[in-house]
Amino acid sequence: MLLVEVASRLQHNLRTEDFAARLSGDEFVVAIEDPPHFDAVAIVARNVIDMLAEPFQVEGNEFVVSGSVGISVFPGDGKELSELLKYADIAMYRAKTTGGNNYRFYAAEMGEHNRTSLLLESRLRQAVQSKELRLNFQPQISLEDDRVMGFEALLRWEPDDIGPINPDTFLPIAVECGLIIQLDDWVLREACEEATRWQRVNEHPVRVSVNISLLHLKQANFAERVLRVLEETGLAPSLLELEITEGFFSIDTEAGVKEFGRLRSHGVRIAIDDFGTGYSSLSRLQHYPVDCLKIDRSFVVRLEEGGPTRAIAASIIALGRNLGIGVIAEGVENEAQMESLRALGANAVQGNLISPPLTTRATLNFLEKQWEDTPSRSEAPD
Ligand code: C2E
Ligand code: MG
Ligand code: MG
Repeated sequence: MLLVEVASRLQHNLRTEDFAARLSGDEFVVAIEDPPHFDAVAIVARNVIDMLAEPFQVEGNEFVVSGSVGISVFPGDGKELSELLKYADIAMYRAKTTGGNNYRFYAAEMGEHNRTSLLLESRLRQAVQSKELRLNFQPQISLEDDRVMGFEALLRWEPDDIGPINPDTFLPIAVECGLIIQLDDWVLREACEEATRWQRVNEHPVRVSVNISLLHLKQANFAERVLRVLEETGLAPSLLELEITEGFFSIDTEAGVKEFGRLRSHGVRIAIDDFGTGYSSLSRLQHYPVDCLKIDRSFVVRLEEGGPTRAIAASIIALGRNLGIGVIAEGVENEAQMESLRALGANAVQGNLISPPLTTRATLNFLEKQWEDTPSRSEAPD
């Protein structure tokens, strides 16, 4: 009923010649033909957001909702409908991640780019084809038995001429130009392939964690695609963990719950990355069953100071325990942090103290070494 109300408000706020439709879930599309000038589109977007901000009355209950608008313009942003929808979606996603209740132009977004970003974008397109992308793997250690439980796959881009470029620099560009989906696909396949090799050198099963961007998650048949990669690479589904951020909770919906349910029924694990830094509502944890919470590095860094940071870390760990799911801390850099986390009851740690992210070769060495280390460790008197 709320959706019907939104639709009717939308209709009343548009010119009769404009077109509005519900695309899926809580997503609507508005097509404005021949706007008198560019700003007119921004004004429509603003009106739509304002009209959404007015409380809705449905069967005597009041609902307060918010909206984010992404705008793409024909023909500058694309000549095909599919392109225009894709870019509007990217722009909307950007509007959402910068706080919501806002609109973004896709073209204006690109206009803000400085020359370096544009250069990087075209280089990145080539990199996906050529061999400049690599994966590094960072071990995750169980605090229960000090064994390696798995590795997180981290993307590296090292163009010969400009040298390594940080993921925090190139990933946002990949998100804006839509390349992130191809990148994520590549990472998923590589990571699964690599993980099948680990099983041969390690006595215990070793998991691989792969970061998945929100844009990727929203692709149709996401679960289907992941399951296909597992089948093709021969990795057991229970050895794959997908890391998503809390931002996922702010996008839909039933579709997401279904896709996750499908993956989890096959044994794929879901972890929430950077837990506690986004704007998630804890009640969502009821609807999105997950297997693991990752405590963000920012909480670990200030753990020893005690005070509120330690209280938050302790609460996340307690939350995980009460929900019956694992808690791993990332960015652990020293013994003191590790001991604090152990005392608080965290299940696992990841960070430079154990090892920085490793090349594929070094990852195998790490496993072989641990394989030799483990028996002697368990025989040690203490
Ligand atoms: P993240 O998933 O939270 O990954 C952890 C980041 O912390 C990594 O940075 C890792 O190298 C770094 N780190 C690990 N241990 C320590 C430590 O002890 N101290 C410090 N200071 N840092 C540590 P990285 O590799 O630069 O990745 C940054 C972010 O980029 C990741 O954050 C993740 O959100 C994203 N990312 C990386 N690879 C991929 C990918 O393949 N796909 C997607 N979608 N995102 C990725
Ligand atoms: Mg991660
Ligand atoms: Mg993280």
